Amino acid sequence: MTISSDALSEPGPERSLMTAGRVPTVTDISPDLNDHELAAALATATGSVLTKVRQEMIDRGTDHWTLKDVGDLSAHEFIMDVLGRTRPDDKILSEEGADRSDRLDAPRVWIVDPVDGTREFAEPPRVDWAVHIALVQNGEPVVGAVALPAEELTLATSPAPVLPPAHGGAPRVIVSRTRRPPAAQMLARRLDAQYIEMGSAGAKAMAVVRGTADIYAHSGGQYEWDSCAPVAVAQAAGLHCSRLDGSPMLYNNPDPYLPDLLICRPEWAEQCLEILANPDR
Ligand SMILES: [Mg+2]
Repeated sequence: MTISSDALSEPGPERSLMTAGRVPTVTDISPDLNDHELAAALATATGSVLTKVRQEMIDRGTDHWTLKDVGDLSAHEFIMDVLGRTRPDDKILSEEGADRSDRLDAPRVWIVDPVDGTREFAEPPRVDWAVHIALVQNGEPVVGAVALPAEELTLATSPAPVLPPAHGGAPRVIVSRTRRPPAAQMLARRLDAQYIEMGSAGAKAMAVVRGTADIYAHSGGQYEWDSCAPVAVAQAAGLHCSRLDGSPMLYNNPDPYLPDLLICRPEWAEQCLEILANPDR
């Protein structure tokens, strides 16, 4: 059985950080915020910028290719400007920026995806797209925020989201709209699970945090910016997060390719890892 993501828009227990009204500017975000507050404020503000860009371009009849490009670029530039002003000594790895090797020795590296789910961003009124802001220290995603701007919602590491109680039925495995990775198929088959379909790695991970899905398993290719902020938030909420082999998710590697991950409710972690370790059983 497949549940459409359109059925998943009911509000959860999370805190909305979106400010109604005018679009934020770079100087709205104070350098005095702590790292958690900064990540949340920046993700929310970038989401507001994107929401405005999206609406203006739709009103003008812009084609979806241009909408994707302008969305990525405007969000990237906003994030770079804010972090450059508020945390000038930190390094940044952005999906939309040049990768600089000086991040490898840096004690603090922000890993950001200005628009996660660009395809869905360019398909209004879809809501499954996100802004990812994370801070990595010693390879670990210690701070993070994922904004879901079309839902006016930002989930962050502090205050951490409260995980809803287990739903008790068959587990729900969340997959892409276009593709079901082998790891997800294996888990769904062995656990007799339902599929839920959604775009955006961040939106998928946050569906597990919000209790509308139980397991997000990806194999076959992702980059550090796809999972870093979602993993930071999911870990803060008490979810299991690891590679498919159970090893930890570590970031700021020389090659940002980080092809697989498992995010799931803690009650499913042991079974999922056991199944993934024994694919032929
Ligand atoms: Mg992106």
